[in-house]
Amino acid sequence: MKASIITIGDEILIGQVLDTNTQWIANKLHALGVELVETVSISDTKQAIVSGIDHAVSVADLIIVTGGLGPTKDDITKYTLTEYFGDELVLNKTVLAQVQAMFKKRGIPFGELNKAQAMLPKEATILPNPIGTAAGMWFQKKEKIVISLPGVPFEMKGLVENEVLPRLTKIGGFPSQAYQTYVLYGVGESTAAEMLEEFENQIPEFIKLAYLPAPGRLRLRLTGVHSNKSILEKILLEEGAKIAEVFKGYSFMVGDVDYINFIKDALIANKQTLAVAESCTGGKIAHEITIQSGVSAFFLGGVVAYNVALKQNLLGVAAEVIQKYSVVSAEVAKQMVLGIQRVTGATYAISTTGNAGPTSDDTKEDVGIVFIAIATENQVIVEKFNFGQPREKVIEQAKNKAFEMLSKEILKNH
Ligand code: ATP
Repeated sequence: MKASIITIGDEILIGQVLDTNTQWIANKLHALGVELVETVSISDTKQAIVSGIDHAVSVADLIIVTGGLGPTKDDITKYTLTEYFGDELVLNKTVLAQVQAMFKKRGIPFGELNKAQAMLPKEATILPNPIGTAAGMWFQKKEKIVISLPGVPFEMKGLVENEVLPRLTKIGGFPSQAYQTYVLYGVGESTAAEMLEEFENQIPEFIKLAYLPAPGRLRLRLTGVHSNKSILEKILLEEGAKIAEVFKGYSFMVGDVDYINFIKDALIANKQTLAVAESCTGGKIAHEITIQSGVSAFFLGGVVAYNVALKQNLLGVAAEVIQKYSVVSAEVAKQMVLGIQRVTGATYAISTTGNAGPTSDDTKEDVGIVFIAIATENQVIVEKFNFGQPREKVIEQAKNKAFEMLSKEILKNH
């Protein structure tokens, strides 16, 4: 079954409202095995709705429409669809009673406009909406299904979950879908694509590989569609193992995991701790850790030692070292990480010092240069990176690199 989603609303077209309905529905259809072939946002006019549906039925069997079902004059979806399907509006007493009861409960006067909400197409299947005034409508003509739902996201979601998906599941016949995600750190999208060229040339045509890059981090997703679920899952595992082989020796993880999850699980399991001393990352590393719950079991805390005097006073970085090597240097990163480890007694520590830019201030290094140090129980590893520009990217990449370096050390020591 091929599907199309049409979202109606001028507020979407002028950028006032972000169309989150499409993404949410697309995700549900995908999970069900329905192939979404097109999504479109259109204006709340008869002409746009008619041409939108005309086109959608030419490319899809299932069309899900959201929006434009309100009680006001500008909401014309219901009238347009009823006419389109040669249906007629009649008073639906069940919906009327439900809407009246809702108004009574909330103590709001019930007007004619609200009554109009209960005028619904006679031949369509009416999908009850217990939390709103606009019912959903399921129109069907030959093999084509057009479902009209309210635009308000939580009303739309309720109708999809309770009415649309169960009905579609009953129709059935959808192929099985499965996917597996992998996370790769420290390899850019194009390099990864080159490394995977041979792999991509041999994957079965029902399996697709997607690259989902983010600064310093690349997610790879294998998606498969097949009539036989167990065959699909077996092949997906086999293909996944081939990807893992390509990235052997790299920072590569199976699943939609990230470093934080890995670090958290490993340190908690080993009753070990972590502390951070951040300069150019300005607390971003600590923040990324503490937005997760349950991290107090391993994360002791840290300092944002941005200022030179703080680096000296709080972390014990020697003035001569700063003078000799400058504040953005491997030696300062090393003293910072040892300082925070000493002060907190943490098993592992991270430090960062760099030039996030756009200016390089009074350091010897170029803009984009960052030194990251990791202290383990018995050594300190310092690496130098050039993350280029802009500033936000430097900070983001430094943070990701720091987690990558720490994960490597944790892996080595286990
Ligand atoms: P109701 O009758 O319950 O008001 P409706 O079908 O008339 O529903 P709309 O008037 O189109 O819905 O939209 C109501 C509100 O729902 C919008 O102001 C917007 O905040 C939200 N909304 C509509 N469409 C979308 C969408 N595609 N994605 C996210 N939000 C949406």
